[in-house]
Amino acid sequence: MDLFEHQAKELFAEYGIPVPRGVVAHTVEEARAAAEQLTGRVVVKAQVKTGGRGKAGGVKVADDAADAEQKATGILGMDIKGHTVHKVLVEEASAIAEEYYFSFLLDRANRTFLAICSASGGMDIEEVAHTAPEKVAQIPVSPLTGVDRARGREIAQAGGLPEAALDGAADIIEKLWAVFVDEDATLVEVNPMILTQDGQVKALDGKVTLDDNASFRQTEHEGYADKAAEDPLEARAKEKDLNYVKLDGSVGIIGNGAGLVMSTLDVVAYAGEQFGGQRPANFLDIGGGASAEVMANGLEIVLSDPSVKSVFVNVFGGITACDAVANGIVSAFKLLSERGEAVTHPLVVRLDGNNATLGRQILSDAGLPRVELVDTMDEAAKRAAELAAVGA
Ligand code: GDP
Ligand code: MN
Repeated sequence: MDLFEHQAKELFAEYGIPVPRGVVAHTVEEARAAAEQLTGRVVVKAQVKTGGRGKAGGVKVADDAADAEQKATGILGMDIKGHTVHKVLVEEASAIAEEYYFSFLLDRANRTFLAICSASGGMDIEEVAHTAPEKVAQIPVSPLTGVDRARGREIAQAGGLPEAALDGAADIIEKLWAVFVDEDATLVEVNPMILTQDGQVKALDGKVTLDDNASFRQTEHEGYADKAAEDPLEARAKEKDLNYVKLDGSVGIIGNGAGLVMSTLDVVAYAGEQFGGQRPANFLDIGGGASAEVMANGLEIVLSDPSVKSVFVNVFGGITACDAVANGIVSAFKLLSERGEAVTHPLVVRLDGNNATLGRQILSDAGLPRVELVDTMDEAAKRAAELAAVGA
């Protein structure tokens, strides 16, 4: 999960990292009140989970509260790379002498952590990394030794930061390492980390990515979730521990195993071209143990998407054999009709792998209405797309 800038800065502040004082505002009036409270010059900053806000006009300095109100009027509701601005961060303006770049990240390719530091930070860091990579220090960090203040100072030095900024930067880097480790982050980025005209080093921007795999031991991270941006079906699926991602097509997809489901999406999109561009409506991996309940929950979620016109159940029997999955489908139909949500959509089922013959037998014996068995994945995808086109 990515954090908003204001959330990242709140987290930084908890770890004693210097950040400008700021207030979040959802309306123009709140922005004005925030600027009045902060007094003096302020910066109005779009809160969207994407970079390049400055270049897009989403970061504006305002001279006073009236000006802040005007700047907020321009920024709230703005679209930045497909993200609508619903809130702004109003911050006391900083007098910037220099802008640096700093980040810790998980370097998957090299199976290590990496500190990246440069004296040439700010909005053009990507350009610098491209044209003058020697100005961007990349330093592997061992999780065993971590980063203390002395190591932080070395990293800042390697990035070419001037003497005047080294102590302040070392302090911030040491604390950012604590954020990175203690919060189970995969990225903490500060761009720019600034040296102010009166010699202080501060985090002027913040980007944090938290590792969702650690949510079991980071229960308070739930508070960062952006409920407004969450798809309601995805939220319901999450409550039921289903791996569901909403897409925009008409063919509902249920499969076992992420790889199989991914390739099912491709095959359906390809087959759908023949039928007026039918596309997959979702990704749903029901995983290994396809119990009746998981199958019922999966079907329920997929079918409550009003765009779904047909469903393709694509299962390759492994440890969970096809007969178990077939029994799961039969019980799921029963369960759903007991819940008053009887399945009325056409369902195309492809069963292959362990005990496929038995699985198919169980399904055809059950005589479920609107269920069709198709032997191959390609043919099944084609049939599901065809049925979606008819239903659409
Ligand atoms: P980003 O473009 O999304 O990365 O947004 P940033 O928060 O990094 O802001 C972009 C740029 O706006 C920074 O690199 C600064 O040059 C400028 N900026 C941000 N806050 C201030 C401030 O308090 N004072 C001044 N003078 N400039 C600021
Ligand atoms: Mn930035």
